[in-house]
Amino acid sequence: MADRRPVVAANWKMHKSVAETRDFCAHIVAKTAEVEGVELFVCPPFTSLAAAVEACRESPVRIAAQNMHFAPEGAYTGEVSAAMLQELDVDGVIVGHSERRRDFGETDESVARKLPAALEAGLVPILCVGETADERDAGETERVVRGQVEADLGELDEGRLRDVVIAYEPVWAIGTGRNATADQAAEAIGFIRSIVAGRDREAAEALRILYGGSVKPENAAELLGREEVDGALVGGASLDPHDFMAIAMAAR
Ligand code: PEP
Repeated sequence: MADRRPVVAANWKMHKSVAETRDFCAHIVAKTAEVEGVELFVCPPFTSLAAAVEACRESPVRIAAQNMHFAPEGAYTGEVSAAMLQELDVDGVIVGHSERRRDFGETDESVARKLPAALEAGLVPILCVGETADERDAGETERVVRGQVEADLGELDEGRLRDVVIAYEPVWAIGTGRNATADQAAEAIGFIRSIVAGRDREAAEALRILYGGSVKPENAAELLGREEVDGALVGGASLDPHDFMAIAMAAR
């Protein structure tokens, strides 16, 4: 069994000012010794990235953006490139979050182009995949998740697969308060690992696959206690530094 270091990532979405970012980071930086062994990511809005990088510079806490464009530069109003994130000393980037797929037209094709661009810039991509409630009810979960994983990783060489962090995020569990059960999360994550193994067995053993969807301190131990689950991508509960660190404690 590969020794995979757990990841707990805070996806703040469109929340927190620069001042709030500094407060949050100061709080968790002071407590990192309590969650040694867990890789922490904070993913603020673009406007707070520089402040987060600065506040966490002397700590093991890593900073990720919530999106990027695949092109190095160009006429893409409102977008930022991987190189621009790299220049800020950002460590990673969320790619293909379901809110971007649903509300902003993100496609598997663009996600597939973003992953190599992120890796080439030295960013850890946190790739989000997951089915909707209708798809699960129709028994389509495996077909949908397989389609996303295969397409989204499609432009990556086998040698880079292990550098991607995948988050299984069932859309019906995001922001709803209704988390997947530990069995559902473990089953889907095992399935995703088997898809990656179809391309490269060693990479499949090495890459981290997280669960995301209404993770909170009360359910974190059960979800993160499963061997298949390598950590969590946390939305709502990550806005409170106490809750975020309580979830990180459960990942130890
Ligand atoms: C997310 O947005 O990635 C997420 C998991 O949100 P929440 O924890 O609020 O369900």
